Amino acid sequence: MSSSETLLGRAGRLRLEWVASRYGRSRGAPAQGGPGETEGRPGGGRPMDVWWLALVLTTVTAPAVSLGADRDEPEELERFEFLETHMGSAFKLVVYCTGPAPASAAARSAFDRIAQLDATLSDYRVDSELSRLGDRAGGPPIPVSADLFEVLRRSRELSERSDGAFDATINPVVKLWRRARRNRELPSPEQLDQARSRVDWRRLELDPDARTARLASEGMRLDVGGIAKGYASDAALKVLREAGITRALVAGAGDIVVGDPPPGRSGWLVGIAPLDPSGPPERYVLLANQAVSTSGDAERFVEIDGVRYSHIVDPRTGLGLTSRSSVTVVAPDGTTSDSLATAASVLGPDRGLHLIEQIEGAEALFVSIPDGADAPEVASTPGFDALLAEPEGEPGPVPALGGPEA
Ligand code: ADP
Ligand code: MG
Repeated sequence: MSSSETLLGRAGRLRLEWVASRYGRSRGAPAQGGPGETEGRPGGGRPMDVWWLALVLTTVTAPAVSLGADRDEPEELERFEFLETHMGSAFKLVVYCTGPAPASAAARSAFDRIAQLDATLSDYRVDSELSRLGDRAGGPPIPVSADLFEVLRRSRELSERSDGAFDATINPVVKLWRRARRNRELPSPEQLDQARSRVDWRRLELDPDARTARLASEGMRLDVGGIAKGYASDAALKVLREAGITRALVAGAGDIVVGDPPPGRSGWLVGIAPLDPSGPPERYVLLANQAVSTSGDAERFVEIDGVRYSHIVDPRTGLGLTSRSSVTVVAPDGTTSDSLATAASVLGPDRGLHLIEQIEGAEALFVSIPDGADAPEVASTPGFDALLAEPEGEPGPVPALGGPEA
């Protein structure tokens, strides 16, 4: 018997709740049923309020091995689940804790931290620190918070490594595409040229000693939507750890960060959604103290004149990606997995996987439908297969479509 849980996609409303199941010293105790416990089972039903199933999480029944599972548990741990909407996405916390009071208090602190980061990093809010930095583009360097500096530093580092495929100054172009999505009308070539001339990660100047940032030309704006949810999930997990909760998972939509495994388990089993996210996962990865992110066009895109344009933009062309793909990246932390998944989507399978191979602790699976083809192609980094696992007692994963076998 295994317990499984559905990660809710971007649920459109605020919800805070917890469900608990009791785990004692005896290992592998089955989870009690609760909301979400069985809904995400491969082939199982879908909860009514979920309109997009991003990833399915399953705690496994595999025999306990290493990764903290052999540790003596001094106290009984219960499982709690919390859900709130932040950064326009459903954030879910799963924690193992001694009781509801400390679990709720820790979850509150973790969500507060995510809310604080939203207020700092949002490009939708005119009063966020990020937006205010954009207001001063073309002016002198501005002192910034440690969080904003770190997100910009990591973004810039990836811009360099990805040859500009990831670019946190992409805002003017992304704004055009947001408008295109609302009006269902393509931006004009003049609008695109104008917006593209305001995008250039090299003109985002950072001074680590003074902790200042500067957008060197007027009209430049920032958008850290490709990295912020991973960073926020890392920060929330840190808050939980500081509250003494080490067996925890934080999921910001398609960005998932996990700490130590559930009691008696060897890891958190995370299902990778197929290109068509309404189908069951075809593959699962088993993770502990790691992160996994999926980027793709499954959810946010605009279709104009029969062409699908993704919300991920190629900074070289200024166009939303039109090739259909889903990139899943596993990395030591969510900041890395989130940003790499976005960068790899832009670079495509060959260059994207090559980039990820250079990064310590990172692995990836790239499912794409090349232009003109109907069937997906699957490619991965050499170490990805070692992360794959199967939910025990569940129907086996559907065989990979022409790609590496699980
Ligand atoms: P999701 O938000 O669906 O998880 P991503 O993590 O891939 O997907 O982030 C997509 C967001 O990243 C876009 O909505 C936009 O804000 C931003 N973005 C789009 N193109 C780029 C790019 N080339 N480099 C950096 N950020 C981008
Ligand atoms: Mg991303």
